[in-house]
Amino acid sequence: MSKINIMDFTKDELSSMIKPSFRAKQIYEWIYKKYVNSFDDMKNIPKDLREELKANYFLHPLKIATVENSSDGSKKYLFLLQDGKTVESVLLPMKKEQHDKEGRLIHHTRYTICISSQVGCKIGCSFCLTGKSGFLRDLSAGEITAQVLMIKKDNEIAQNRRVNIVFMGMGEPLDNLENVQKSVKIFSDPHGFSISPRRQTISTSGLSAQIKKLGEMDLGVLLAISLHAVDDKLREQLMPINRAYNIESIIKAVKEFPVDARKRVMFEYLVIKNLNDDIKSAKKLVKLLNGINAKVNLIFFNPHDGSSYQRPEIKDVLAFQDYLLKHGVLCTIRESKGLDISAACGQLKDRKEKEDIK
Ligand code: SAH
Ligand code: SF4
Repeated sequence: MSKINIMDFTKDELSSMIKPSFRAKQIYEWIYKKYVNSFDDMKNIPKDLREELKANYFLHPLKIATVENSSDGSKKYLFLLQDGKTVESVLLPMKKEQHDKEGRLIHHTRYTICISSQVGCKIGCSFCLTGKSGFLRDLSAGEITAQVLMIKKDNEIAQNRRVNIVFMGMGEPLDNLENVQKSVKIFSDPHGFSISPRRQTISTSGLSAQIKKLGEMDLGVLLAISLHAVDDKLREQLMPINRAYNIESIIKAVKEFPVDARKRVMFEYLVIKNLNDDIKSAKKLVKLLNGINAKVNLIFFNPHDGSSYQRPEIKDVLAFQDYLLKHGVLCTIRESKGLDISAACGQLKDRKEKEDIK
């Protein structure tokens, strides 16, 4: 019998599999808080249980294949899965460490970790490299959470340091909803990562039916919608999924999604030169978001080999933002973090594969 990944299980599942059940909590703490390398390192677990665990389970489903450092401090990881496939994750330091006049630490660095949910993606957006390379398979819950574990460990980020998780790497999280749901539970578990669901953002290309399902799960996570266009014709061109779930259906699903009154739904808007960067689009966007507690995040399109789309002019992105702000819509521009390290999703993997072929 082949061994199974112990990280694929929520604590409740593990408690029903391991006797006595309280050991599940201890095992969880060893894995997610103390970052152990092996079952043998789980000191308070009796030897026979450790042997049983070793015989039936394995611990770490990922290996670091490559790491690229960017001048802005972000770090991009390419992870090797057990079947030889690869996925990407990015560590983004959001706020630098701060000290007072006496040199005492007053704020630790805040981190965001961007993770993948699938190897490849079925959605096939025309601007996205991940979409272009097709779909290989879903990641298991353990393969999703292991990305965060490996990055915390590799950067010696203490277990109690605050991190935010964004499901904005490779893949469509709502197309792998069961495993994503499990990973949210493992991230949130007080004996696991202890990352509040309010620090976890799930980004979707807008599968309205799945947004509804996610809402019904009431996990408390934040929602981000990759909107990118304000009319269906252009959105279909950018994102073929719009034929199945048009803009109206997405807006309806968002309005029904349970959000904490203090939190907002994020709308990602990839700005592409001469396609959606005009004030007319900004105007339509304001109308569309009327009645939603929304925040818009403008993203500069990041060109890659073989794409005919172009990076927008800074002045047009600023004018777009200005229009939204003046009309009462909160709007930020995503810093082009990691641009010098083959930024947006799929680009490190793509380059690595090309280098391997050479
Ligand atoms: N599938 C989900 C989550 C992952 S996509 C979704 O689409 O929301 C991750 C993010 O990368 C999306 O916001 C997408 O807009 C962005 N992205 C993809 N290709 C890009 C590119 N070439 N330049 C900039 N951002 C890109
Ligand atoms: Fe998939 Fe998101 Fe890329 Fe579209 S943008 S192909 S949904 S990963």
